[in-house]
Amino acid sequence: MTPNKEDYLKEIYKLGGSEELVSNKQISDTLKIAPASVTEMLGKLNREGLIKYEPYKGSRLTQEGLRVAFSLVRGHRLWEVFLTRHLGYSWSEAHEDAELLEHVTPARLTLRLDEFLNYPAYCPHGNEIPHTGGQVGSTSLQTLDNLSEGKTSHIRKVTEEKELLDYLQGLGIEIGNAVTVVSFGAYEGPLTLDLNGKRIQISYKAACQIYVD
Ligand SMILES: [Zn+2]
Repeated sequence: MTPNKEDYLKEIYKLGGSEELVSNKQISDTLKIAPASVTEMLGKLNREGLIKYEPYKGSRLTQEGLRVAFSLVRGHRLWEVFLTRHLGYSWSEAHEDAELLEHVTPARLTLRLDEFLNYPAYCPHGNEIPHTGGQVGSTSLQTLDNLSEGKTSHIRKVTEEKELLDYLQGLGIEIGNAVTVVSFGAYEGPLTLDLNGKRIQISYKAACQIYVD
């Protein structure tokens, strides 16, 4: 599926685009789209007044662009809570179906969903659910690979990507778990972790996608 306009707006928002300029490179890296296609789409979004695009510098969301991105992100994360909490979805299943639902959820339904779920603050993967129009996710967290050996921290969020989510859930990782790096494998080898008192091994690549405080 090729990302549509809404996916671009959502990505720009997640990259901080309600407050600062997001470069074309950042967008093409996260959406895994060729730079030429990204430039073309940004031109379109600029003409439609959804972003302010400054050539060679980057893009920022306009008020209208922010409104769209905000409701997508909010809808996505609320659906994820609903699907995992009430329908027994796994982490990756919830993310996958929320990607579809976010584009077709009217504002009224989002409001009711939020109320029904009792206003959750985070999605199952630890991402903040925005409740006002501002930017979320700016709190400073570090990734697990940056933790020093022997230091205990807590898992706050993980990157939402299908294979990664299945891998992490398979290892028994949960948001809020206490985690200590017991040792680092040589040359970016696997990390040995103490997870809530249990020893597990995790790939270095996955450790770079786990955020701790
Ligand atoms: Zn999520």
